[in-house]
Amino acid sequence: MVLADLGRRINAAMADMTRSNVVDEKALDSMLKEICMALLESDVNVKLVSTLRGNIKKKINLKDQAPGVNRRRLVQKTVFDELCALVDCQPENGDAPAFKPKKGRSNVIMFVGLQGAGKTTSCTKLALWYQRRGFKVGLVCADTFRAGAFDQLKQNATKAKVPYYGSYTETDPVAVAAAGVARFKSEKFDIIIVDTSGRHRQEQELFAEMVQISQAVKPDQTIMVLDASIGQAAESQSKAFKESSDFGAIILTKMDGHAKGGGAISAVAATRTPIVFVGTGEHIHDLEPFTPTQFISKLLG
Ligand code: GDP
Repeated sequence: MVLADLGRRINAAMADMTRSNVVDEKALDSMLKEICMALLESDVNVKLVSTLRGNIKKKINLKDQAPGVNRRRLVQKTVFDELCALVDCQPENGDAPAFKPKKGRSNVIMFVGLQGAGKTTSCTKLALWYQRRGFKVGLVCADTFRAGAFDQLKQNATKAKVPYYGSYTETDPVAVAAAGVARFKSEKFDIIIVDTSGRHRQEQELFAEMVQISQAVKPDQTIMVLDASIGQAAESQSKAFKESSDFGAIILTKMDGHAKGGGAISAVAATRTPIVFVGTGEHIHDLEPFTPTQFISKLLG
């Protein structure tokens, strides 16, 4: 089920509850059942759905509510808050803190993600985003596996007027990454974004390469790029990258399409890592900061 349908189903379940004569346990359970079904069909992990259900029941606790309480409003607010909690990561809960580039030094941001997720596109979008906010930004292409990867980054970077670094001859991605970062550091760039490979003959080789590049460039932030439309696979994919690259943020791409965002919601929850931006199109300006309340408000229309 795509995200827009998920939103419609949740809304419909809440509307049914609102229309019922009394908001009692029966009405609440039937609404929760429908919301949970919709979340499961959108690929949200079953454990998360069960936790959400338990939290909502506990918070609403109908039998202990005073007679004057507006039960309908209480139910709506609680459902909204718990949906936000699914995609919200807070450092005070032990989650990864949000990244802010520091002024007066070079900040290295490394991108990881599977081929096709939208890594190269998102690198350029983020570079432009920072550049427009006054940072001096450089892009490094450390994908030496895929023929044409450097050309693609070059094309994107040129379009965005962002300086870039790469090599047509060096086949060692670690060497290119290190050289690119060293070059931009010596030129006092504020932000250096390293694009990496998304595919290998063996998946394990890809993860090993991410570890090596990470050790060479010592990123201040690693961002995983995740295609919002991949459903259930999002969770295992993000866990595998988390183990090898320990990313601190997620960019969710293709939110403009028929995104089945439930898998992405699970990925956030499984890694307790915040989504920082969402990609909303193929154009270089199609990048929006992610905020949980806005995402859920939009989901529920
Ligand atoms: P990479 O292999 O991970 O580097 O992926 P690319 O950056 O080459 O992107 C793969 C495809 O997805 C390209 O056709 C991009 O234009 C497209 N793409 C990337 N981000 C988005 C997005 O947010 N929305 C849409 N609709 N397409 C995107």
